[in-house]
Amino acid sequence: MNPKYIFITGGVVSSLGKGIVAASLAKLLQSRGLRVTIQKFDPYINIDPGTLNPYEHGECYVTEDGAETDLDLGHYERFLGVPTSKANNVTTGKIYNTVITKEREGAYLGKTVQIVPHITDEIKRRMLLLGNSGQYDVILTEIGGTVGDMESQPFIEAVRQLQWELAEEDCMSIHLTLVPYLSAAAELKTKPTQHSVQMLQQSGVQPDVIICRTEHPLSPELKRKVAQFCNVKPGHVIQSMDAWSIYQVPLNLHEEHLDELVVRKLCIDNFNQPDLKQWRGFLDRLANPKREVDIALVGKYVSLQDAYKSILEAFVHAGAADSCHVRVHSILSEDITEENASSLLSGMDGILVAPGFGERGLEGKVHAIHYARENGVPFFGICLGMQMCVVEFARNVLGYADAASTETNPRTSHPVIDLMEDQKSTTIKGGTMRLGAYECELLPGSLAHKIYGSKVIHERHRHRYEFNADYAGEFKAAGLVASGHNPQTGLTEIVELPAHPFFIGVQFHPEYRSTPENPHPLFKAFVEAASKCRAERV
Ligand code: GLN
Repeated sequence: MNPKYIFITGGVVSSLGKGIVAASLAKLLQSRGLRVTIQKFDPYINIDPGTLNPYEHGECYVTEDGAETDLDLGHYERFLGVPTSKANNVTTGKIYNTVITKEREGAYLGKTVQIVPHITDEIKRRMLLLGNSGQYDVILTEIGGTVGDMESQPFIEAVRQLQWELAEEDCMSIHLTLVPYLSAAAELKTKPTQHSVQMLQQSGVQPDVIICRTEHPLSPELKRKVAQFCNVKPGHVIQSMDAWSIYQVPLNLHEEHLDELVVRKLCIDNFNQPDLKQWRGFLDRLANPKREVDIALVGKYVSLQDAYKSILEAFVHAGAADSCHVRVHSILSEDITEENASSLLSGMDGILVAPGFGERGLEGKVHAIHYARENGVPFFGICLGMQMCVVEFARNVLGYADAASTETNPRTSHPVIDLMEDQKSTTIKGGTMRLGAYECELLPGSLAHKIYGSKVIHERHRHRYEFNADYAGEFKAAGLVASGHNPQTGLTEIVELPAHPFFIGVQFHPEYRSTPENPHPLFKAFVEAASKCRAERV
């Protein structure tokens, strides 16, 4: 079978959840036994989102092979349970970078380099790349942005050309739109969808399927109307109602026969029903918790939910595994002072201090950690959260009042967190952090070792600073133990306090690897510790 390509565009408004719809369809196809991957093409000019503030586009997701990517790749991995790679996220910046570099090398000697065909050829080459690898039966391509945006035009043109070049049964196009409900008229309105599809048609792309996001069910008449005016077959208009959980969306789309329609259109000789037993089991536990816990998420980007997407999802997975409803309370780290820490945090069964960069809110994180350490509240620090638990310990236990990370205080007399050796000569900001998965060896008998149940683990990184090993002896003597090391470089990856009920800081990002079907052991252990803390507290 040739690789099959599904292109997904969005119209009317942004934030319709194209990523979730793509991931849900991919899940359905995967559960029918097909090998599926999803890629995202983003129209912005940054090479990758690594240099973006999370308030711009939400969290920056990191792949095994060290690509800094759009957060939708996190959804793809969580739904499919299969790692993505550098090839799964392409931006306009990457496309132009390749074409301009080739131009300088003389690859187009004598020719005028243009959007069509040079930019569109490079987009098409990348759209087909994963399919050509032979690893996948179906490749879903999500086009970021909204149809009609000036910057997404070359991507839509590339889709048009591919639909013309590929065999009829090897590709299809899905358009996701919004059908708004006007409460004053008590009516669902299809006009924005019609206009959006017209815009797509003007670019030469005829969608095969239209998926309508809606708050109310679409009647058969309304679906028929959309189909007729948008020139798709009856039955090819699918509703996607607001769901109680993003993980419910694959089941909703299956009820609308989306996967069946797709395998028929792509002539995939596979009419197995999706096997979603494990997925349904997860949803069932998620919907019927037996316990609850309150967790503080202390960070500096808390007003945008998407900024900590993978962490929030990892709590959903870990909670469901334990039939526990995890209520996450986002607390702005800047708001926490030494005086108010106890009133802000006293109702919490666990405290997670989030990753981050720069000075804003840093002292608040230290106060939150101080509170957790002294009051026996389960603590989990991730990346900057781990670095700050080292700083807190140095200040309040070792008595080094000005201990700090040199990221924010280069003149400190106790640089307990310091720039990694190979970062010292780095001046370029994009793509130069310590990125991607590295091996880590766990200290036998440590909390980390118990949690993972294995001696060697692999976790993903995204940082420039590290635990300063010059202080390891002093920390250990005072009770803060380094319990995970990179065997190649000796870098400390985990610290923990054996005398505390649950206190662990990790230099890596465990949240990127958590999925509903494979919740992360650290998040599970943290939720269990929080449950225990609650039982003792209440
Ligand atoms: N700013 C810190 C560093 O670069 C931590 C990064 C993070 O939390 N991802 O080392």
